[in-house]
Amino acid sequence: MPEFLAVLAARVEVRGAVQGTGFRPFVYRLARRLGLTGSIRNTSFGVLIHVEGERRALEEFARLLPVEAPPAAMLRGVATAPSDALGAADFTIGDSEAGGELSVAVLPDLATCGDCVSELFDPADRRHGYPFLNCTACGPRLSIIEGLPYDRPRTAMKGFALCGDCAREYRDPEDRRFHAQPVACASCGPRLRYAEPLGPARGSADPLDAAVEALAAGRVVALKGLGGYQLLVDARSGAAVARLRSRKGRGEKPFAVMFPSLAALRRAARVSDVEAAWLQSPAAPILLLELVARGVVADQVAPGLRTVGSMLPYSPLHHLLMARLGFPVVCTSGNFSEEPMAVAPEEAEERLGSIADAFLHHDRPIVRPVDDSVARGVDGRLLVMRRSRGFAPLPVPLAASLPTVRALGGHLKNTVAWASGGQIVLSQHIGDMDHPLSLAAHSRAVSDFERLYGFEPVAVACDLHPDYATTRVAESSGLPVTRVQHHHAHVASLLAEHDLDVEILGVAWDGTGFGPDGTVWGGEFLCATRTRYRRFARLLPFALPGGEAAARQPWRSALGVIHAVRGPDLWELPIAPVRRATQWAEVLDGLLLAPSTTRTSSAGRLIDAVAAIVGVRQESSYEAHAAMLLEQSAAPSGDAYPFELLERGAGGPDEPALEIDWRPAVAAVLDDVARGLSPSLVAGRFHRTLARMAVAVAECAQVPRVGLTGGCFQNALLTQYGGEELRRGGFEVLLHSQVPPNDGGLSAGQALVAASRLLEERS
Ligand code: ZN
Ligand code: ZN
Ligand code: FE
Repeated sequence: MPEFLAVLAARVEVRGAVQGTGFRPFVYRLARRLGLTGSIRNTSFGVLIHVEGERRALEEFARLLPVEAPPAAMLRGVATAPSDALGAADFTIGDSEAGGELSVAVLPDLATCGDCVSELFDPADRRHGYPFLNCTACGPRLSIIEGLPYDRPRTAMKGFALCGDCAREYRDPEDRRFHAQPVACASCGPRLRYAEPLGPARGSADPLDAAVEALAAGRVVALKGLGGYQLLVDARSGAAVARLRSRKGRGEKPFAVMFPSLAALRRAARVSDVEAAWLQSPAAPILLLELVARGVVADQVAPGLRTVGSMLPYSPLHHLLMARLGFPVVCTSGNFSEEPMAVAPEEAEERLGSIADAFLHHDRPIVRPVDDSVARGVDGRLLVMRRSRGFAPLPVPLAASLPTVRALGGHLKNTVAWASGGQIVLSQHIGDMDHPLSLAAHSRAVSDFERLYGFEPVAVACDLHPDYATTRVAESSGLPVTRVQHHHAHVASLLAEHDLDVEILGVAWDGTGFGPDGTVWGGEFLCATRTRYRRFARLLPFALPGGEAAARQPWRSALGVIHAVRGPDLWELPIAPVRRATQWAEVLDGLLLAPSTTRTSSAGRLIDAVAAIVGVRQESSYEAHAAMLLEQSAAPSGDAYPFELLERGAGGPDEPALEIDWRPAVAAVLDDVARGLSPSLVAGRFHRTLARMAVAVAECAQVPRVGLTGGCFQNALLTQYGGEELRRGGFEVLLHSQVPPNDGGLSAGQALVAASRLLEERS
């Protein structure tokens, strides 16, 4: 029993994501229930509590504090110390204490809670039908916070003066809305506005009615949501979805769909109980689910895929809209192609004017763009693939205290991260760095987070790639730069997520990453710690005719791979990619044999090659397109194709000691395809083969912990097989959950590597 309990007063420091969760009113009610007096206030690290009273009541307080804390609160540490009794007459909630070390966690935006949904649809409630209601358990956070500590004058709500009723609720510690910073009602809060820039003037029609009408008529509506504009269209209508697709420059990349309710979603897709819980959690991500009924959403939503990114209404505005519509809508980021989302009405009308027929605006400012998060269930666990609303910017907690380092992330699916003290703070999803608008969003995110958290970085980390835009940004920062190898950053992101400070074998498989030897890496096995790595093994490199063009054209990877297996006999094969390439035979012969041809050890490209060989896809319309089709075509398989391990000598930091010769596997695939074996059997067996390769290398490396990371491990079947095989081999398997395995997680890994190296240099 802590010593302070012998005295009659205590000082309790609570660290973590506690502000904006109803934590203070919870403590207030708990203290009063136990007959304790004292005070609580927000501080820069969390909250500070002073309690005094009878010994038994203090004991009970200490016991119940972590147990009964509100669900949205994430406690990272409770420190208690004896204190002097002040003779307080009551328990009070004090003012926030500004200044000091800023280590409080900013909360993500939280989906509308059950109590608020009930009010929303209760005709007797004063907030009936009000699209911006919220409480201490739910509502906007990251998207409205301008500064810390989290109080209304430092949020986007500062311009809305509370009405008498709202003010009473805000001040009443017994109320569900006590100190709910974004609290509002129809008479004092934000309002909707409908606009049709090219349409006729609509007079005083209700904005929500007008939007419902437009959507029901198959038109594209840009809706200002929680963290940015979204583009909505009737998901049942192939023509409407196709229109949105072509206006948005979307190719075949799947759209996400919002369903009116869980019941409606269950008519379209298979939803397990745990998936239903994720969909209805405060994070409420888009979840990849398997379609079970055809025709509930148009084929145009996710061409060729058997899965659909699905979500449920998560803000009061979405709840009201979906209840009136009663049918699923495509709900996608309000942008052109992969640009950042629009967040302000004028900006939205300018940038989305050629995409949307109508706009549903509101006047609560969005302080920073926050996209919807995307996740899927893998082996019964949640795997976050795009970490934004509901997750960002919750920190990755670490036991060690690290110097402050800014990490700029990779080129695609970019995020920014900071190592600082005992945590890594990871920004929301920013986007692909090909667009000038994305680069601007990237630099805004950097200054925004550093101002918000008061970070003063002593170094900056980036990728090793000389041509990444973020590399140039790092070099012009004026700070010392640490360049972190791409796959080391992937493995380190896994070390961060599991807070490990040991060597692991990282199986880092993705499409492409710059190797220090100037070649394209992507099928790597790194024995890695927080500060260094040894390239223990790799996949046997192969020629990639056309270089980077291969990422969009899997048939090119197939030719490189087939050439490695069959050599000059390539042109004799009755295989789709070869038929396709025959017209360019001479060019390709030259490309395959030329010394300048790109060679790669990429697992992503090897998977593309097999997808093309079995005939599921010759061209990719978006990243990992062919791999996704190969995964969904795969029949479960316990059998694997043969492969060999080639010893290459002692190895070095960048020189692998081992190589996996996959040629026997591809030769067998070619034979199977030639004799007409079904693509699903080949695909299943090939997935099992890749998993066996991971175990074979792990057995040679003799490192007890093996991590699976890189974009290839968004593949649920590959991850499941890899986990199974490795566990059966006696290895402890580390998988991603909250930090994306794809390049969205790179910044977290870069931050850990650079900050750990600094720490090592200092000691
Ligand atoms: Zn609520
Ligand atoms: Zn009000
Ligand atoms: Fe990568």
